[in-house]
Amino acid sequence: MRLRLNLFTWSIFSSAAAAFTLGRKAAVAKHVNVGAFRNIISSASSISRFSSTKNDVDITPFETWTFDTPTKNMECNKLSNASLFISSDIDSNVEDADLVFLGIFAPPSIDKDDDERDQEGSKISEPAVLNGLAKVIDDRFGGIIKDVMNENYKMFKNGASAGEIIPTIRLVSPGVKAQRYILIGLGNESDKIEDDFSAKLGKILASKINDEKKVSKVSVVLPSKFVKDEGSVYDLATNFYSTIYSDNRYRTGDNVVKFAEELKSISIVSEDISELSSANAAIENGKSLASGVLLAKDIVNAPHNVLNSESLANVARQIAEESNGLMSCTILGKKECEERGMGAYLGVARGSETEPQFIHLVYTPKNSDSDCKKVGIVGKGLLFDTGGYNIKTSMMELMKFDCGGAAAVLGAAKAIVGLAPDNVEAHFIVAACENMINEKAFVPSDILTASNGITIEVKNTDAEGRLTLADALVFADKELQCDSIIELSTLTGAVMISLGKGVCGIWTSDDNLANELNNASKLTGDKSWRMPMEKSYNAQLESKIADISNLGTPYGGAITAALFLQNFVDKKKPFAHIDIAGPVWDDNTGATGFGTKLASEWIVKQGKRKND
Ligand SMILES: [Zn+2]
Repeated sequence: MRLRLNLFTWSIFSSAAAAFTLGRKAAVAKHVNVGAFRNIISSASSISRFSSTKNDVDITPFETWTFDTPTKNMECNKLSNASLFISSDIDSNVEDADLVFLGIFAPPSIDKDDDERDQEGSKISEPAVLNGLAKVIDDRFGGIIKDVMNENYKMFKNGASAGEIIPTIRLVSPGVKAQRYILIGLGNESDKIEDDFSAKLGKILASKINDEKKVSKVSVVLPSKFVKDEGSVYDLATNFYSTIYSDNRYRTGDNVVKFAEELKSISIVSEDISELSSANAAIENGKSLASGVLLAKDIVNAPHNVLNSESLANVARQIAEESNGLMSCTILGKKECEERGMGAYLGVARGSETEPQFIHLVYTPKNSDSDCKKVGIVGKGLLFDTGGYNIKTSMMELMKFDCGGAAAVLGAAKAIVGLAPDNVEAHFIVAACENMINEKAFVPSDILTASNGITIEVKNTDAEGRLTLADALVFADKELQCDSIIELSTLTGAVMISLGKGVCGIWTSDDNLANELNNASKLTGDKSWRMPMEKSYNAQLESKIADISNLGTPYGGAITAALFLQNFVDKKKPFAHIDIAGPVWDDNTGATGFGTKLASEWIVKQGKRKND
């Protein structure tokens, strides 16, 4: 009997083990079949992981893709639901906060040119002076904050550059819970506030709250000049919410890392906020933009076996579905692209596992007049770039970020739904595909014909992004007749040699557009630098057999890429190529969402331009 029992249990364990690999439904079915033996199994269950019902429930079915079909949908991370608000009520917000950030100006007595005296170690001659709410709080604690400033006066030298975090003070009063105070340098009181101060502050607050741990209620006390208008509240909210991000889509159990996990509320407390009539709207707008930045991070972070052309197209469809009718989405397939003669894009797309997905989202404003501007925002959407037959020999593992332009464009589309600017019709365009190797993939020396009739000799299959962009630009220019076009792409390694990892390059022949993008860049903190359209380098793109080739010499590669793209947009039309290959990826933290804020800000300003 004992032997028989062992045999039975073994055969049932084997079935359960097989079910383990097949998924939950199969496992449940096996248990139904062995119902008569359930009692016997349960007596043995403590010795086998396969026989436990709990383990059956834990089995994750193979849901998102199969051996034969690629993933259809990309999961997304959610925006933090911590509430951010502006208040002038110091009592209810500061007193029971776990963590208080206190903005402080430099002590007025420190002379900017007095570095020498500091090096000699001489003491500060004048004590720190606190004003406004900072003084109210300091008085409550018997001057302890002033003492900290005096003791650490070197940190406050020249006002501690604006946004700099100064050490944490932990205060404990008898009968009152422990509170942490962190001083934030605000520079000298007489200094002009930097354009990107609010953006910087939003990022710093989020990171510091995360570092501090176990923080539920936060208050930030600032002089009113730092909360002076809706724009600064908008920038702060945008950067605060977009910094609260941790990509947990592919982590399980204890590996899940939650950013600022316990945060419930953060109040910005200032004395005079009477003129901030629409602060709440500014915060909501900031959240809209942050949700776009988060989407851009999700798109760039997603690996190729999750994010292919089809799942990216579904992300675009979802943006339209959730837009309350503000956005429409059209996906051109292989046939529609062939009809338009998009030979450059299709030439690259032949190597993809999935069929071409040419994404076109249209934002139509609720209110517009005859001056409504039509703008095109084009993004490079290479979901993975192996280099093709000119296969990459280094950094291929990072090439999931080659859809960084598409991420910025779809991120901006999502943000624009929430921001809902008037008087601008925005077209978001991505010619999505992968640059892979198969029997149909293009090879060096192939000649591709773009939809404007220009023939291109493929000198290198790794210069594929510009080929996909060629047809996307012709579509925006000729078919849609956009008034102006900006295009974002992780186009060249050369731009990283020129500008490093923190700054994108902008190429345009149009000075007005250059200024608009420069302003948007300064406001949003998406840093940029205008680069030259050096026409003499066009000679590098000459081909012996076709109209042009897709590759220049090793020097000035980011410039020749920009010159190549200019062939696909009417030369009189305002057009900017923005190479974001550097800042789109941070080697420590992954996707940055770079470009979403820049593009969104530019689009919103196009709508406002008449009133500016
Ligand atoms: Zn490439």
